[in-house]
Amino acid sequence: MIELDARTAAIRRRAREWARELKPLALELDRDPDAIHRHLDVGIVSYLTRMPVPPEYNPHPVIVEGHRFYGTGTLERVVFAEEIAVGDAGMLLAAPGPVMSGVLVDAMGDERQKEWFYGRILERPTWTFFALTEPGGGSDAGAMRTTAAQDGDALVLNGVKRYIGNAARADIGVVFARTRPGPLGVTAVLAETSDPGFTAEPLETLGLRGLRICAVSLDGVRVPADRVLGRHLRPTQRGMWAAVQGLNRLRPGVAAFGLGIARAAHEYVRTERAALRPSERARLEDLGHRIECARQLIWRAALAVDAGDPAAGALASAAKARASRLAEDATREALAFFGPGARLEHPLLDKLARDARGVEFMEGTGNIQKLNLFTGLAQRKPADA
Ligand SMILES: Cc1cc2nc3c(=O)[nH]c(=O)nc-3n(C[C@H](O)[C@H](O)[C@H](O)COP(=O)(O)OP(=O)(O)OC[C@H]3O[C@@H](n4cnc5c(N)ncnc54)[C@H](O)[C@@H]3O)c2cc1C
Repeated sequence: MIELDARTAAIRRRAREWARELKPLALELDRDPDAIHRHLDVGIVSYLTRMPVPPEYNPHPVIVEGHRFYGTGTLERVVFAEEIAVGDAGMLLAAPGPVMSGVLVDAMGDERQKEWFYGRILERPTWTFFALTEPGGGSDAGAMRTTAAQDGDALVLNGVKRYIGNAARADIGVVFARTRPGPLGVTAVLAETSDPGFTAEPLETLGLRGLRICAVSLDGVRVPADRVLGRHLRPTQRGMWAAVQGLNRLRPGVAAFGLGIARAAHEYVRTERAALRPSERARLEDLGHRIECARQLIWRAALAVDAGDPAAGALASAAKARASRLAEDATREALAFFGPGARLEHPLLDKLARDARGVEFMEGTGNIQKLNLFTGLAQRKPADA
């Protein structure tokens, strides 16, 4: 059993308090994703605007019970994300902040790029985006068609991206594009949404609606050469490799969203269905046990990521596959406690079930996670798996 240290336990307690503020806002944001603009002063939202920003760029970290938090550790992020997702995963994803782009900039940015990026983040609440997926199939990132053609000392982006979170409200973000064929031909650049040729149109979605996923069009967007991430790194450490490393670091966090949604559904039944038959009590206890087990797997994956363990990618995939499945099972099971009219009579549960579906697709579907896990096992990465 993994136990939390005093520092991580402190952020967990604070996140639990913040999550209580979110419950009453969850359905409002689900109906109207733009409601986020009315809630920028909610405790959790103002915390997320600055997380993660590494200590060297963040003179004003969040201090909880005497501990300083920069949001850079994977374990603290998953513990935090689970608690907030119990309140509302939609709000967690809708908030401004560096999020996925921040992880890439941290891993691949040079000194000047980091100063520029984090400077923009700390100036005012700033949304960011991370544009990898394309309409032809998100799982097959190697088939990417968006191009980045050299023109003088700039790269010119052309192509379309799909399902890009927060793109229509973002100022800056990371775009993946191809300079030439093959896996080493993929590059990641920092782009500004105000650049001519950049457009983002929100897509209608059923789950995690606060995130406002978008279709992005890149029509001759010029990116100066100094915005190409990883210029100072070896070609093998840029582009696709960096995307995979970044996603490995983020995946335990997505697993934690799933866990939080499962817990919210479980807690909903416990509060709203006071009298339970013995068989129902057993079903609920079983669900509670699955939640505990998934949490341990997620924490284990997060610790592996923080330790730079070679098994981290496979463990993170196992955690994500387990947690997104659990979120779907838990929300469906919770609905079953309230009979055939449950989706209409319990809108919060209905929303949780729709959000669980969204988690399945974020950062790769269950099938793709199982493929990652299988590859990791075949390469004997998780030594004791
Ligand atoms: C809420 C949400 C937020 C998102 N945010 C972002 C974002 O900010 N940025 C971004 O770039 N993308 C984002 N995405 C996109 C997400 O990463 C993709 O949806 C995901 O990678 C799957 O891609 P796809 O939808 O194109 O499905 P596809 O890749 O077309 O897959 C369709 C189905 O085929 C299966 N499949 C595909 N290949 C295989 C295979 N080799 N073996 C077995 N089965 C296979 C998949 O499991 C799936 O069931 C987001 C998606 C959602 C739902």
